[in-house]
Amino acid sequence: QKILVIGGVAGGATTASQIRKLDKESTIIMFEKDEYISFGNCGMPYYIGDIITERDSLFAATPQSFKEKKNIEVRTRHEVIDINRPSKILTIKNLQTEELYEESYDKLLLAPGAYPFVPDLPGIGIIPSFTLRNIEDMDYIKQYINEHTPSSCAIVGGGFIGLEMAENFTQIGLDVHVIERSEQVMKMIDPSMAEHLHEHLKENGVHLLLNSSLEGIESDRTLKLSTGEQLKVDFLLFAVGVKPKVDLAEKAGLTIGETGGIVTNEFMQTNDPNIYAVGDAIQTFHFHLQTPKRVPLAWPAHRQSYIAAKHIAGEPVSFKGLLGTSIAKVFHLTVAATGLSEKALNQMEMEYKTVEHSGKSHAGYYPGAEYVYIRVHFNPLDGKIYGAQIVGGDGVDKRIDVIVTAIYGGIPVHELQALETSYSPPYSSPKDLLNIVGYKAE
Ligand code: FAD
Repeated sequence: QKILVIGGVAGGATTASQIRKLDKESTIIMFEKDEYISFGNCGMPYYIGDIITERDSLFAATPQSFKEKKNIEVRTRHEVIDINRPSKILTIKNLQTEELYEESYDKLLLAPGAYPFVPDLPGIGIIPSFTLRNIEDMDYIKQYINEHTPSSCAIVGGGFIGLEMAENFTQIGLDVHVIERSEQVMKMIDPSMAEHLHEHLKENGVHLLLNSSLEGIESDRTLKLSTGEQLKVDFLLFAVGVKPKVDLAEKAGLTIGETGGIVTNEFMQTNDPNIYAVGDAIQTFHFHLQTPKRVPLAWPAHRQSYIAAKHIAGEPVSFKGLLGTSIAKVFHLTVAATGLSEKALNQMEMEYKTVEHSGKSHAGYYPGAEYVYIRVHFNPLDGKIYGAQIVGGDGVDKRIDVIVTAIYGGIPVHELQALETSYSPPYSSPKDLLNIVGYKAE
């Protein structure tokens, strides 16, 4: 059969490769409207911050390597502009020659990703403004910094990309302001946990402007904020979230869900059984609640790619839904979360209890022990874990992943006490922080 793939980064390139592993015969063609495929978006902040110094290390593959190693044809600078579902034909524009042509399919995979959202504000463009989504954006920011040696910037949005960029811009010597509309950064964590981040950002020299939104830019380059404050910086970075790219799907009559993503089933099929969709552009469902959920992160894109490929190859595996597990480095702290937050539980009027614990990441007498703060929300009747958040120094990542495992395996919160965790002074304590969470939840 002939399989066409739209989008050549996380979701598209991974699905194409997975299909090839399972099916050596089919023709696979992948279309990417930009110049590059298979790059590590997640590494881009660290390249701008000079932590990653080799630009080439961000690229996992090239069109040539896809052809040679996987027998997948890649057409970069080719944009798919129409899906004709009744005749199963795509219209494609070659962006180099402007030529239009058609390609038929038996199965189609959509992995078009998302747009970085830019608010429509008066005066946009008066000072250099950037978003960070792809390699072109990254190169553009890097080039601007090299050519203009700015000394300050404002980041609009205190989510993952906003805070990662705050750290990386600080790292290269910029004076950084973060403008955040709500009363806390990182909305997926509870307010008390966000406090640790607020303090830490300030300790690292970031000017954090909470409850504050950018209203416009004056002709003298002054930023006008909703609080009445005024600010002068050399450039702006918008990191206020992403909008799923659904134009093509919508035009083709595919169902768009209430979260704004393309609706998919547990095999990543859209409402057209010959068209699959994965990644930032889609809506799936919540692991606990089965309600619609959209998580524009890399783990979902990769898992969904496997599920779609297995179904296309005739070996179906079903998707189990998403918890929205996430992690980020914010200077010397790590912040991680999974499942439902206090706000989400309250909004749904669910009964829950919370267990909190904080302590040193490993034996206090061994150098380098750092504080770790843990909050776990659970069902008071049976201890089922609804969600957890961890902020701290060392060892946040392993502990959030243990909780994800517990949720996935249905281990109730009090049973965390019984997990025989690994111990030696540089790593943990004879009773790990998560064991204590289990004892406290009894
Ligand atoms: P993308 O990777 O965006 O790929 C979509 C591709 O489709 C694009 O290249 C686009 O040009 C192409 N395309 C769209 N429409 C068409 C068309 N009509 N024709 C042809 N081509 C088309 N996630 C994490 O889990 N952890 C992280 O630490 C993390 N850090 C990130 C940091 C940054 C700066 C960014 C931008 C993202 C980060 N993410 C992170 C998110 C992660 O990168 C995305 O979730 C993931 O890339 C989504 O994959 P995707 O295939 O859906 O979309």
